This record gives sequence, C-alpha cells and structure tokens, in this order.
Amino acid sequence: MKLAGVIGNGPIVKHLLATHQADHLPSAFLFLGPEGIGKSTLVRSFAEQINCESQSACGHCENCRLFRGGSHPDFIVVTPQGKNIRIAQIQGLISALSLRPMYAKKRVALVKSVERLNQESANAFLKILEEPPLDTLLVLTASDRGQLMDTLLSRCQELNFSPLSAPELQQVLDQHFPLEPLAKALVLRHSEGRVRKDLIEKAAQLVALEEHIESILFSQRPEALTDHFVWIESLVKQELERFFLEFLAGWFRDMLLHKQSVSAQPYSRASFSNLNPRGLAIPPEVLAHAFDLTIETEVAIKAQAGRQLALEGLLLKLNHLFRGALVL
Ligand SMILES: [Zn+2]
Repeated sequence: MKLAGVIGNGPIVKHLLATHQADHLPSAFLFLGPEGIGKSTLVRSFAEQINCESQSACGHCENCRLFRGGSHPDFIVVTPQGKNIRIAQIQGLISALSLRPMYAKKRVALVKSVERLNQESANAFLKILEEPPLDTLLVLTASDRGQLMDTLLSRCQELNFSPLSAPELQQVLDQHFPLEPLAKALVLRHSEGRVRKDLIEKAAQLVALEEHIESILFSQRPEALTDHFVWIESLVKQELERFFLEFLAGWFRDMLLHKQSVSAQPYSRASFSNLNPRGLAIPPEVLAHAFDLTIETEVAIKAQAGRQLALEGLLLKLNHLFRGALVL
C-alpha cells in the first residue's frame, strides 16, 4: 500500500518521510500505541516506499512486486508465538540480519509486541540494538511502554500513535472491510478508534446478539430464565460470550453516564437520546451493581471459570437485582 494511502497518524507519516529524506533515520524506532491503530501497516508501507526504485511505491519495480507478493526477503517480521517472542525467533532474526540485504537499500525488520520478549529473548534482542546491522531499520511495536526495559527504550526513537478518529475508522472499514450498515454501526460504536478484527469478523452475529440484550434484561419472569439459559448455551457454543459481557457492561455504563449527564460517546446506541427509557428508569445504584457483576463475570471467565455456569449465575443475580432484591 502506498504510504499516502495509510489512514490516520498523519504527523507520524510526515515525520518518517522527513527523517528519511534528510537521511536521519535512527537505527531503531519504537512505535507505541494500542493494537489495531495501524502501526504495522505503516511500517510495511514505509518499507515499501523507501525501497521502491522511484520512491513512490510504484507497484511495478522489483522491490514493489516482492512487497506486494508478501515475499520481500528484506522485510522481516517477528510476531509473538503464543504468549512470547521466543529465543529461537530472535536467533533467527540475528542470523537473517547477519547477511547483507538482497534487494533493499534499507532492509526493515519489524518486531511486533516487544513487551512479549521474555528475559532470554530480550537479552539476545538487546545485542541487535547495541550493534545495529548495516542498511537496516528496526521497528519495534508495543502497546504497553510500562513493561519495557530501560535498556531497550534508550536505544529507540519513540513515536506515539493515536487511535483513529471516527471518520478515519469509517474510511478503513469502507476500504478494507465492507459491512452491512447495522454491522458497520456496531463496529464503529465499540471500536474506540481501533480496527477490531474480532468484531469485524463476527459483526453480523453480534448485531443479533446486541439486539437480544434488552430482552434478556427486561423479561425477568422465572419461566423466561429457561429460554435465557438456552440462549446462553448457544452463545457459549459460538464463543461469543465475551462480546455479550462487553456489550452488557457497555449498556449499563451508558445508562449510568446518561443519568449522571456525563458527555461521552455511547457504546450501545448511536446517541444517548436513543437509550431505552425502561433502562433509564433503573436506579443508578442498581445499574452500578449490575455493571460490577458483569465485570466480575468477565474476570471469572478469564480465570477459567465454567463459561455457561458463570453466565447463568450472572443472569440469576441480575434477575434478583432488577426485582429490587440487591444481591450483596
Ligand atoms: Zn516501485
């Protein structure tokens, strides 16, 4: 992709180009910011552009063709395998970088999520930063600067990425992930400026899920609970429970914020004026408690609690709560 076509983070794109044109590229950049805001996309486009024979990502020269085919030998990507970046991956990187670049004027090595280097791989990686290979630009990405070692930070030029604005995110969706209008609206509401592929992939199912939330909350007759449990079972089978909890927490949060007249972007509706009046009639302390219960369930499921059981428990507690009997 041409650098000019990269959406968002314009000042960083400008900085990279200016630094390159002035021949002042550092040996390593650290791109900081949450997942899904275009850090890796930008690295790839920048690498393509600066190595293009006409510096324009023309799409036709040898370098561009290799980039677009996804097989440029001088664009190396290291992605965590499982929880960590393993020592074998860093050793592989060291041996790849010990050779001269094959085609590129500036070889680029992208090392993603460097907060996931373990002790051993971090020590090996530091050696690369200490003695940077010739004709090579290292780009590290991370979402949590607090987890990085000072020795790593001190050897990189840091660039802080911002989440995408709503129009930018919309542009990314339109260009790369075309969705039906309702699905697109849902993805936009829940993305907070990030490209959330998890939401995008399941957007159609999630529209139905989100629509069902109010019927779960407002039909609290005992016999309805059986239906809710069956619904929960199908949710768990489709591995959608974390979205259910996320949307449920968002629903409670929106009601609370609206009641307290806090101005913010709602998650559950396009605007606060569309919130369900029945939800707004629930006292704030009940909403706050329901929010806490939802988060607790999320935490329990992350800690390996039985998903079906945890969700059924949550529905039972919400049921009691909404009948005015607070579960403490
Ligand atoms: Zn080219």
